[in-house]
Amino acid sequence: MKKYLYIFLMTLSFFSLYSCKCDTCGGDEEITVDCKTCDGDGHIRCHECRGSGEVECDDCNGYGSMTCDYCYGSGRNGMCAICLGTGMDDSGWTCIHCNGTGKNRCFNCNGQGTVTCNECLGSGEVTCSRCRGRRFVECQECEGKGKKTIPCPDCQD
Ligand SMILES: [Zn+2]
Ligand SMILES: [Zn+2]
Ligand SMILES: [Zn+2]
Ligand SMILES: [Zn+2]
Ligand SMILES: [Zn+2]
Ligand SMILES: [Zn+2]
Repeated sequence: MKKYLYIFLMTLSFFSLYSCKCDTCGGDEEITVDCKTCDGDGHIRCHECRGSGEVECDDCNGYGSMTCDYCYGSGRNGMCAICLGTGMDDSGWTCIHCNGTGKNRCFNCNGQGTVTCNECLGSGEVTCSRCRGRRFVECQECEGKGKKTIPCPDCQD
């Protein structure tokens, strides 16, 4: 009877020894590896802005300015106060004030015909909303940890 108990204990210690023995995981049955998606960095380059942190402004299509709404790009709007809209001065010459258009210089664009984009303030680019200008986004695969826990490949039965 004592001998059986001895064998039983031996067997038990052998198995517990065996399960701790895995070099790969040290008996945890899972191991931590670098996330392949982000190379262990925890973040990946933002696709939205291709890593630049900025995207083309939607409002002006990247031009930084847009056609003035008030004069439709003509730079002139409203009746010329000098020639009263006729385009000519008293002598029948082209009104130099409105260039013969009969219209006043547009107050909104100051005669430029275009206005600076309010959204990007003329740069044509706005901060990428996806990465908020940080150029990188958190890796979804590892939730930004850079590491992943996987079942130990050497412990599988
Ligand atoms: Zn005029
Ligand atoms: Zn205008
Ligand atoms: Zn813009
Ligand atoms: Zn981005
Ligand atoms: Zn990752
Ligand atoms: Zn293992």
